[in-house]
Amino acid sequence: MKAPNTLLANTGTTIFTVMSALATQHGAVNLGQGFPDQDGPGDVLKAAADALLDGRNQYPPLTGVPELRAAVAAANRRFWGIDAEPAEVVVTSGATEAITASLMAILDPGDEVVLIEPLYDTYLPVVKMLGAVPKLVRLEPPKWELPRAALAAAFGPRTKAILLNTPQNPCSKVFTAAELAFIADLVQKHDAYAVCDEVYEHLTFDGWRHIPLMSLPDMRERCMRIGSAGKTFSLTGWKVGYVTAAAPLAQLVAKAHQLLTFTTPPNLQRGVAVGLAKPDAYFAGLAEGLQAKRDRLSAGLSRLGFGVLEARGSYFVSADFRPLGFLGDDVAFCRWLTETAKVTAIPVSAFYADAATAPRHYARFAFCKNDATLDLALGRMEAAFASRGAEAQGRALTA
Ligand code: PMP
Ligand code: GLN
Repeated sequence: MKAPNTLLANTGTTIFTVMSALATQHGAVNLGQGFPDQDGPGDVLKAAADALLDGRNQYPPLTGVPELRAAVAAANRRFWGIDAEPAEVVVTSGATEAITASLMAILDPGDEVVLIEPLYDTYLPVVKMLGAVPKLVRLEPPKWELPRAALAAAFGPRTKAILLNTPQNPCSKVFTAAELAFIADLVQKHDAYAVCDEVYEHLTFDGWRHIPLMSLPDMRERCMRIGSAGKTFSLTGWKVGYVTAAAPLAQLVAKAHQLLTFTTPPNLQRGVAVGLAKPDAYFAGLAEGLQAKRDRLSAGLSRLGFGVLEARGSYFVSADFRPLGFLGDDVAFCRWLTETAKVTAIPVSAFYADAATAPRHYARFAFCKNDATLDLALGRMEAAFASRGAEAQGRALTA
């Protein structure tokens, strides 16, 4: 038989699935894959449950149920000052589909796409599947500042788009107004588009505030802004995402959605519409609750000896494990941690195109968990590090 698709044949199973399976196998506390261990608001769940039983279970409209498109448009205005019509919203099956559909809407083979590493694991394979050419720019730890000269150099006459994730997974960076202005200027100078993965839009801490690139001057028509009910309502299994874009772009995103999934379960959409209309206190409370969890886990990891990085948004904190005496790489460390300490984290090098040249000394921990879960994980690590330290008695440690 002839070889099937080369790119997919060479794509490994996602690190999140690999590490979750390893966690199950070893009975580990799973701080790897980013999902809360408590479901989101009861009224959103009830709205979806009620909607399941009221006779609207056939194909919903292709671009989403009217209630949700109106709710996304209203949320754009309420939170970010972006005026959008419901006709400029396309509902998708998760942000994952929204990212692919948005890239499909703009890319032709040979187009260049600027991507910022570390990056979410679907970006690169999808860009390549579409025949486009990735241009990678790296943020450097521990501060993850935007390397402006390198970013400017990545743009050129063939640049069709930048794919920007803020607040960012895994480095928990929230792009600043000045960084976004710099990016907007490059996008405009090169007459390009921006696919904006803003799934953590409501999850920022310490007074850091998310700024959509779309809200900057002259960016309204160039951006496709993506949100996820999974993150905003702690319901990651629902897979309801939404794209906001100017009508001509939204129509193309809808065509891509038509090819990928066509529609998204109507009862879940109606639940999310109820969620987006919740009072401001819900959204503020979500961020405050997560900030407290971040503080709990970060303080615990520091106490154990990790070099903990700042986390300004998202579900994640990354930590340098070298101060603990581990000389192996992050993949070996995360495997050791799962098998021996019974705690799972994600190696940060998984978020790079070329793991060999990536930073290899950070593990990413998800803190979107109950306090008891975080404390259990910290207790297990403390015990494992203590027995490992005793066993090693001063000799160099490899993970
Ligand atoms: N983008 C980023 C940066 C993410 O972390 C995630 C995580 N789930 C997604 C997209 C996908 O979102 P969804 O689950 O809505 O498909
Ligand atoms: N976004 C989640 C994370 O970064 C995982 C999503 C997935 O498993 N595909 O952990």
